[in-house]
Amino acid sequence: MKLLEGKNAIITGASRGIGKGIATVFAQQGANVAFTYSSSVEAANELEKELSALGIKAKGYKSNAANFEEAQQLITDVAKDFDSIDILVNNAGITKDNLLMRMSEEDFDKVIDINLKSIFNMTKAVQRTMLKQRKGSIINMSSVVGVKGNAGQANYAASKAGMIGFSKSIALELGSRNIRTNVIAPGFIETEMTAKLDEKTVDGWRQAIPLKRGGTPEDIANACVFLGSDLSNYITGQVLNVDGGMLT
Ligand code: NAP
Repeated sequence: MKLLEGKNAIITGASRGIGKGIATVFAQQGANVAFTYSSSVEAANELEKELSALGIKAKGYKSNAANFEEAQQLITDVAKDFDSIDILVNNAGITKDNLLMRMSEEDFDKVIDINLKSIFNMTKAVQRTMLKQRKGSIINMSSVVGVKGNAGQANYAASKAGMIGFSKSIALELGSRNIRTNVIAPGFIETEMTAKLDEKTVDGWRQAIPLKRGGTPEDIANACVFLGSDLSNYITGQVLNVDGGMLT
């Protein structure tokens, strides 16, 4: 049985990494997938082809999640192309790491805009559609860093912790309309980006994780399938740590 059969999902930041993993697993589970990216046109076209080959409807949109008007336009376009929107995964995110002493105002603002304001933009844009449908599942991609903090990532931690407060508030506001909002807090997830890091350092990180390995995009995608599917119909306002036990 496919867990997302007949559902329409929109995933931000899916041209690579975790977002691409979510888009792929969602399509394998029968969902139609609208996804966004910031600049990777070629990767997005390729993904659109790969997803369509799985027999579902897939379309990529170039849209800056940090821009209020672009988010509104995106949802208007997706609602027109796909009819309904059942699942929104706010996955797009960036880092601009530095110790506070060296962190510029620009790098603070940029991380807050792309990671946190984007959630406001997208949720506000999608709420009208979901309210009309009287159902919807919103999944926001936070991080272990948003739960516990991290030296050198004050901007990122603030954005990811802010998402948790925002999500819990929206869960309270929209619960009576059967719109659920949950958060996933991934730990260390191995992507193309981490493959470039020094193997010895990465292995040190792996050994510090109770399950003794980094996570995969599929590990995060599977948690998204659960929160997007009807299996989680009575779950809202929660933070699900998907981190191999890192925060235990
Ligand atoms: P990634 O490989 O850097 O991919 C980021 C994605 O977001 C790309 O598709 C990128 O599009 C898109 N994007 C960037 N800025 C955007 C914007 N303004 N508007 C729309 N899309 C934008 O990141 P990742 O490692 O997969 O991480 C995905 C999410 O998980 C992030 O929110 C991150 O904070 C969170 N997370 C990651 C880890 C980890 O270990 N990797 C751990 C915890 C949490 P382009 O390709 O066009 O630039």
